[in-house]
Amino acid sequence: MIERASAVVKDSPFLEFRLDYLEKPLAALPKIKSFFAENTAATGIATCRRKENGGKFSGTLAAELEVLGKAAGAGFHLVDLEIESAEALKKGELEKLRETGVALIVSFHDFSATKDLEKVYDRMVPFQPDFFKIVPTAKTLTDNVTLMRFIEKMTESANIVGVCMGEAGIISRVLGLRAGSSFTFAAATQGEETAPGQIAARTLLETYRIDQVDNATKVYGVAGNPIKSSLSPIMLNAAFRRETVNAVYLALQATKVNDLLKLVQELPIQGLSITMPHKQEIMQHLENTDPLSAKIGACNTIMRTQDGKLYGFNTDVAGIVGPLEKRISLKGAKVLVLGAGGAARAAVFGLRDRGAEVFILNRTAETAQKLARQAGAKTIKKEAVAKTQFDVIINATPIGMAGMKGAAMLDAKELNTKLVFDLVYNPIETPLIRLARQQGIPFITGVEMFVQQGARQFEIWTGKPAPEEEMLRVVLHTLRQQAEAAVAEAPVPTKATTIPTKATTKPKKAS
Ligand code: NAP
Repeated sequence: MIERASAVVKDSPFLEFRLDYLEKPLAALPKIKSFFAENTAATGIATCRRKENGGKFSGTLAAELEVLGKAAGAGFHLVDLEIESAEALKKGELEKLRETGVALIVSFHDFSATKDLEKVYDRMVPFQPDFFKIVPTAKTLTDNVTLMRFIEKMTESANIVGVCMGEAGIISRVLGLRAGSSFTFAAATQGEETAPGQIAARTLLETYRIDQVDNATKVYGVAGNPIKSSLSPIMLNAAFRRETVNAVYLALQATKVNDLLKLVQELPIQGLSITMPHKQEIMQHLENTDPLSAKIGACNTIMRTQDGKLYGFNTDVAGIVGPLEKRISLKGAKVLVLGAGGAARAAVFGLRDRGAEVFILNRTAETAQKLARQAGAKTIKKEAVAKTQFDVIINATPIGMAGMKGAAMLDAKELNTKLVFDLVYNPIETPLIRLARQQGIPFITGVEMFVQQGARQFEIWTGKPAPEEEMLRVVLHTLRQQAEAAVAEAPVPTKATTIPTKATTKPKKAS
């Protein structure tokens, strides 16, 4: 724990020590005391949460109190006492703890939902804590709004620390300080999270720039399900930072479109990237769309006007057509599209719009036929592919995606084309791209589409040219890091990798 704390204290001198993660918390205090003596700028919170309250400490309430009392003597500035423990204390016990001079956080955690937060606050008032820490779980996106409205209301009369746990809780983790939360919590490093949905401190600072979020900061996001592994937040936050746009871009775990729409109005959100599975369903809720979105029946970009109206665009088309037009003329070009799902629809309609002759090959023949009818394209049988010369072959199926099993749709002798475009972007080099390279066929990777569709979104929202080079740089950097991490994780875990290290979390912005 000391090792982990020493590694991060320079960047984040406000540290929570989860003493409940240690087998013998009391035995650790002398070492922690030396740590504080050496790191005088550090501010420490001691937490020894009991098992029945969601922590790992199996001792009694008296034992918890002893640890917290002695923590004060070891140099901690704050102690965290969960509400359930506070309520079980005997008369005078809390006063004894307070006599040590530490500041008191009384904390509440609800691992299942966001319920009546004022009721929780009322339960805490009798203990007169210095900080009221209230941490519910966001089951919906709008649960974040409930928490932030509560913080805004109470912050005049008390020091509130609030975040929502869970995948959907990121909004409160990034915007909570703006709502008035005294500080927030982050994982010491990625992989060392101590609560569901927690983000690494460095990510909060560098990607989301929470220290710069203020009342004028515009909020954007990517909405989908699942959304955790989306690279859009890294790419678009980098673009906002590079162009000094006061905006932040969040990953919004949206299980239902209605929840998303409510969030857009209540927060308010200025613009959205829409991804699977909502690209089609969202259409009926938009005030207006560009002609291509209407034709395709899917939209991946929303802009919210000042009067709250939502306008839809489809930048997937530009993400596919743009990179191709840089290399070839599409008018009259013979293009084979593999797949007939959302990305394939954007490709087929976009290419037809530019006058290309489009052939569709899909696992499910009926879907290919339907798309071909709608877009004025043709279907092609697998047997005919080897005998046909194409200008471009586009893969719009997930085959080749990291973690995706499935046989390649084409083999070497079927790659009769001048150019290959694989829309899959993770990994950067898919089996199809490798095949093209081996055969000396020029290729375009899915990263280019990803950056282009994101760049057009940036331009729609801000009216400024997108910093495409910077966007490409951060996406490539992240994909390479992920690939390296995947390789590093591949061997059987050794003993050393099983040592529990999830022991420190770092609060930001000490009040
Ligand atoms: P989708 O709507 O689910 O469509 C998937 C298509 O792939 C369907 O036509 C499906 O055929 C076919 N397919 C799925 N699994 C298959 C398998 N094992 N073998 C053969 N065909 C299979 O997905 P989408 O939104 O179009 O996305 C497709 C891929 O495009 C994604 O996985 C992503 O990698 C890529 N993409 C990239 C970007 C970018 O910015 N670079 C943007 C969007 C999408 P059936 O009709 O038979 O089900």
